[in-house]
Amino acid sequence: MADFDLVILGGGSGGYACALRAAQLGLKVALIEKEKLGGTCLHRGCIPTKALLHAGEIADGARHSAEFGVKAEFHSMDMVAVNAYKDGVISKLHKGLQGLVKSRNITYVEGEGKLVSATTVAVGSESYIGKNVVLATGSYAKSLPGLDIDGKQIITSDQAIHMGYVPKSVIVLGGGVIGCEFASVWKSFGSEVRIIEALPHLVALEDESSSKALERAFRKRGINFELGVKFKSVNQSASGVEVLLEDGKSFAADLLLVAVGRGPTSAGLGYEDVGVKMDRGYVLVDNKCRTNIKGVWAVGDLIPTLQLAHVGFAEGIMVAEEIAGLNPRPIDYDGVPRVTYSEPEVASVGLTTAEAKKRGIEVKELNYDLAGNGKAQILKTAGAIKLVADSSGTVIGIHMVGSRVGELLAEAQLIFNWQADANDVGQHLHAHPTLSEAMGEAHMALAGKPLHAHG
Ligand SMILES: Cc1cc2nc3c(=O)[nH]c(=O)nc-3n(C[C@H](O)[C@H](O)[C@H](O)COP(=O)(O)OP(=O)(O)OC[C@H]3O[C@@H](n4cnc5c(N)ncnc54)[C@H](O)[C@@H]3O)c2cc1C
Repeated sequence: MADFDLVILGGGSGGYACALRAAQLGLKVALIEKEKLGGTCLHRGCIPTKALLHAGEIADGARHSAEFGVKAEFHSMDMVAVNAYKDGVISKLHKGLQGLVKSRNITYVEGEGKLVSATTVAVGSESYIGKNVVLATGSYAKSLPGLDIDGKQIITSDQAIHMGYVPKSVIVLGGGVIGCEFASVWKSFGSEVRIIEALPHLVALEDESSSKALERAFRKRGINFELGVKFKSVNQSASGVEVLLEDGKSFAADLLLVAVGRGPTSAGLGYEDVGVKMDRGYVLVDNKCRTNIKGVWAVGDLIPTLQLAHVGFAEGIMVAEEIAGLNPRPIDYDGVPRVTYSEPEVASVGLTTAEAKKRGIEVKELNYDLAGNGKAQILKTAGAIKLVADSSGTVIGIHMVGSRVGELLAEAQLIFNWQADANDVGQHLHAHPTLSEAMGEAHMALAGKPLHAHG
């Protein structure tokens, strides 16, 4: 007999969101977590990195204060204090989350679980039996063959968020979201930074225009990068690392951050033994996150969808609602907002021009330069908003670069997900002077009535 309606394995973004929503819907829930409730996002991902980025923003503010007529001086980073600030944020959110789980009468189990049947998760000698089992064991930082993480000179984001000092120089292997965010943090903290990326661009999943704008901005900040070249090997010595590339170049630094992506945490957890269909460690699911085994579901970084906390939340909530019989709508993954929180930020929703063309869509594009936006000038940020529309005028992609543009995604994702066209958006007022005006102006220009734009 099942003791629970749902047994959830993994208490990260996907697992705990599923638990909270299921309990809200009156279901009996067990949530099993081997480390800390909140998972990667809260303890090793989103929250700590954004706290470090914010500390970096303050450092840059001090460095550039004279440009704004403020007499201040950047002296140095106090990493003990930075970490205390960052850990304070995490601790407060962790406590809040623990209280939330408790208040919803969720059975919280501390321990390492293993799937032993389609209805049962074993934790030590205890068995937790559910009518449904939700797999939410997340992901881990990958490395490359022959590149061993020693946690000191060769590290991943797991160690990078706890650094007790500012390295004089860093090589960042991987110019994706995590690599670019750490490159930005360390540059702001005062390190010499060089990114190595095998693909032709930084943040290569973004629209090419955004990648190029970020590359321009990073170059201006003095962040070095090598694009389109693969890592070959690394030598370590007492003084640091020397990274060799396949084109014959080599670079020395104190530290190598390996940021080459994240793989699913599924090895040895019983999934395959129970017959769950997998591909390269990822659990395969349908558009409602159902695996091939009835009553077994999977969410978050463990499945091959976008590895983002809010995707995990959405998948967890969808599974809870599906189990409760609410028949929720499947997630439209094109409509997921995406942000790289570097300085400047890169934010997007919908299709890139390249992806739209691949799907055979005839596209119209519009670039609105932030040079025409008052608030952008006040902040002294450069960047742009690019709109991609289909031939009927419906906006199918919004791509932004600039300080704080991540905040504009709230509107951008509504525009995309509500399938708005340029006229719909252009007629709405945007407060002056805000960055959000650039969103309005871009749509006015796309509708053929630009205000603060040439042409
Ligand atoms: C450096 C970094 C920065 C990031 N920044 C952002 C960001 O700004 N915005 C964003 O949206 N996303 C960000 N992410 C991604 C985000 O953290 C993940 O997408 C999200 O945490 C995935 O949630 P999840 O529940 O699938 O997995 P996780 O959060 O990894 O949770 C899985 C949980 O399962 C537990 N677990 C695993 N195996 C077992 C077992 N056998 N028994 C019991 N428990 C187990 C783990 O301990 C873990 O707590 C970032 C990630 C990193 C690494």
